[in-house]
Parts: sequence; C-alpha cells; structure tokens
Amino acid sequence: MKSYQGLADKWIKGSGEEYLDINPADKDHVLAKIRLYTKDEVKEAINKAVAKFDEWSRTPAPKRGSILLKAGELMEQEAQEFALLMTLEEGKTLKDSMFEVTRSYNLLKFYGALAFKISGKTLPSADPNTRIFTVKEPLGVVALITPWNFPLSIPVWKLAPALAAGNTAVIKPATKTPLMVAKLVEVLSKAGLPEGVVNLVVGKGSEVGDTIVSDDNIAAVSFTGSTEVGKRIYKLVGNKNRMTRIQLELGGKNALYVDKSADLTLAAELAVRGGFGLTGQSCTATSRLIINKDVYTQFKQRLLERVKKWRVGPGTEDVDMGPVVDEGQFKKDLEYIEYGKNVGAKLIYGGNIIPGKGYFLEPTIFEGVTSDMRLFKEEIFGPVLSVTEAKDLDEAIRLVNAVDYGHTAGIVASDIKAINEFVSRVEAGVIKVNKPTVGLELQAPFGGFKNSGATTWKEMGEDALEFYLKEKTVYEGW
Ligand code: NAD
Repeated sequence: MKSYQGLADKWIKGSGEEYLDINPADKDHVLAKIRLYTKDEVKEAINKAVAKFDEWSRTPAPKRGSILLKAGELMEQEAQEFALLMTLEEGKTLKDSMFEVTRSYNLLKFYGALAFKISGKTLPSADPNTRIFTVKEPLGVVALITPWNFPLSIPVWKLAPALAAGNTAVIKPATKTPLMVAKLVEVLSKAGLPEGVVNLVVGKGSEVGDTIVSDDNIAAVSFTGSTEVGKRIYKLVGNKNRMTRIQLELGGKNALYVDKSADLTLAAELAVRGGFGLTGQSCTATSRLIINKDVYTQFKQRLLERVKKWRVGPGTEDVDMGPVVDEGQFKKDLEYIEYGKNVGAKLIYGGNIIPGKGYFLEPTIFEGVTSDMRLFKEEIFGPVLSVTEAKDLDEAIRLVNAVDYGHTAGIVASDIKAINEFVSRVEAGVIKVNKPTVGLELQAPFGGFKNSGATTWKEMGEDALEFYLKEKTVYEGW
C-alpha cells in the first residue's frame, strides 16, 4: 500500500494531535500520519507570512508570474502522481482527478501570465498640469481556507491569483485532504517560490481556522466551504479591529430542469453525470431534478436506464464513481436516505451500502419529493438525487428558486423562449443550458448567489485577481 509519510513529514510540521489520513476506498490504507498544528504554530505561520510580505510584494510582478508559470509546468510533468494521490486521498476516479490536476496546472499558468499585465488606469484631469492614474497593490497576508472536495484546484484558484498579486499567504486545507496541498507547496518551492511566502497549516477548523480568521495581521480571508461555517467566519471577520476583505463561496442545492422541449436522452445523461459524478460531492452537483409533467414518464424511464449502467468502485479502477469521502459524510448520506423513506418520498433507485473495504454507496434516486422536504431544501453532498414534477415552466422556475441556495442551475430544452425565461428568472451564479450543472472553465468568473456565496467577489477568470489587489489613485501635478 502506497505511503505518503515522506511528503507529510517534509511539508506538514505540526506538533499537536495525530490525525490519520485514510484512503476512503480502503479504510485499512493509511496514507500518512499527520500531526495537526497548535494555535501557537498557526501564529508562527502568520508571523512568517508577515515577515515575508515586504520582499515578495516588491518582487517584480513578471518575476512572480514566472514562478507560477514554472510551477504549472512542473505540475504538468508530475500530473499522474498528483492524480493518483488525489484519488487515494479524496476518492474521486482517476479520470476526474486527472481533469482536476489539468485544470490546476492551467490555473497556475493562467495567473502566472496575468501577473505580467497587472495594471491600473490613467484618467484625464481638469487641470492641464496634472496626471491622474491608479496603481494596483497587494493587500498583505491573505488567509485561504479550503474544502476537501476539490482538494487541489480550489487551493490553486485562490493561491495563484493571491501570489501573482504580490500577497503572502497562510493556507488551511480541509483536514481530510492535506497531502494534496503539501504536494502543491512542494511544486511551488521547486519552481523557486521563497520560503515563507506560502505557509501551510493543518488542523481542525474550529481551532486553527478561528485562530487564522481572527488574527489582526490577516488582510483578507478567502473561504470555500459550507454555508454554516461561512456565516461563522463572516461574523468573526466583522468583529475584528481591522477591516478585512472577505470572499465566501458556500454550499449549494442545485436543480436541473427538464423542459417538455428537451432531448430526453441528453437530459438523462446530464442528470446522472451531474448528480452522481464526483459521488455527488460537488458544490455544483445536481441534487434536484425538476421535470415537466408532459415528459415525466418518458424521462423517468431513460433516467433509470442510464443510472443502471453507472459503475461504482475504487477510483483507481475503471468506474464512474468512487467512494464517499469518509465515515462522517457516509453516515450523513445514509441518514438522508432513511429520512426520505420515512417522510413519504419514493425510493426508485439505489439507497444501499455496497459491501467492501471503503465507503461505497449506490447512486440513489427519490421521486415525489415536495418542496417542504429536507431532501429538497438541504445540501446533502452525496449521491442522492431528488425528483419533483412541475406542471409548467412557471412552476419549474418557482421550484428551482424555492431554496436558500443559488449556486448553479441547469435547463435542458430546445425551446429558446423557455431557455431565455429560465436564464433571466433563475437566481443562481452560474446557469447551464443543455450542459451538466457540474464543470466550470477556469477563464470564466464563478460565484454563488443567496446563501451560496457573499456575491462580493468572483473566483476564477481575470476577476479573481481583483480580490487580492487594492487600487491607489495618484494625482501627479507639475
Ligand atoms: P466545511 O465548511 O466543513 O470546511 C471548509 C474548510 O473550513 C475546511 O478547511 C475546514 O477545516 C474549515 N473550517 C471549519 N470550521 C471552521 C471555522 N470555524 N473557522 C475557520 N475555518 C473552519 O466544508 P467541507 O466539508 O470541507 O466542504 C464541503 C462544503 O464546501 C459543501 O458545503 C460544499 O458545497 C462547499 N463547497 C463550495 C464550493 C464553492 O465554490 N462554492 C466549492 C466546493 C465546496
């Protein structure tokens, strides 16, 4: 069984409680024993980032960009190793891991290149002897807190623009997936990033996370994770002595609407890929299907035909879906399945544990789910899909919007009027038309509405850089 103890010992330097990093496809496979950081060690990490800020922020932006470009090249060379570790640590299939690794090295290159064109603007002045211009400057030390489900690409899509802009960083990945970020830090170091610019800390959110967020040396917090924790961080940041910029990307309860004008084979494919790809553990996963009553029966038949071919097993094998990430999430998924059975929703597919050494669950579908049920309203974050019938487009849009979240939403249709109506009336940060709700391109801005995000700043694309820069206006007279 492959061990990553060497990687852990080199980059994760805590001295606190021991944590076992376990392969979710095989509970007996310990990837590494990790020592979590104490609060004092977190403070040390922040102090290192503070001490390094002057040097890094004065490093010319093209030089900073070159380091990121080099890191991207090195990650590409090691792509297979990154992907294998991702599958062993998080559980997703090797194909999905490779997709995430590819996006991650492209993100490093994208922000590496953008560092060469960080720019302000020049403006006309009412005074002929004055020139007005703006310059963009880094914020200082930024705190980056990330979840386990995209254990590499989310850290990269925060870290790369933060570094390109000239900030130093403290990064805290989810405790379930620290090795992925250790490997990222290793690649950045090999690419020439000076020590202390990025400081990895690993530990429980409630201890380590709170310590980072509350520290007055932190100029900005970028957090991706659950809505519950996001709201807590929002409050903590508001109580600080210092004004701290904050970016929050949170949970989702995404719906895919199948219109009466839809290609139903495509709709079934998108429903299964969006619902069960990545084991349903994606903030953009489809967790609600809203089906127009005119096509309900035909669609259901195609959905069941498609899901029967969906293969579950260890991500290292030729399968469509790997295990659930850990015991806690596994129990949560099972509780929701029991709840669905008890509350009167009809289980039409799956619902069972798949015996084996890992946390394997069948893809699960409930129909007859009504908008007052928890299955409809709450984020499960597992392979559990609920189906609700809508009498027409109007009712479908109302149902799509009838939750507190607004991350992504999708429509399958060929009727252009229905599509445009959906796009303009649905409250979500990303809308997909005849595409799965999952899957984002790195050059496009991304961020949720309602309880899915703070809507203040976008991630990815050129927009992401703005979160990590402040603008100074200069009036230069002569
Ligand atoms: P989580 O909220 O439990 O944890 C996210 C991170 O916050 C982890 O690093 C965790 O240790 C840390 N944390 C926990 N408590 C903290 C505290 N009090 N102070 C500071 N940090 C704290 O989420 P998770 O289980 O790791 O990830 C799943 C969640 O993330 C889902 O809700 C999913 O929808 C969401 N997510 C959102 C996006 C997005 O872009 N909107 C992307 C991926 C995942």
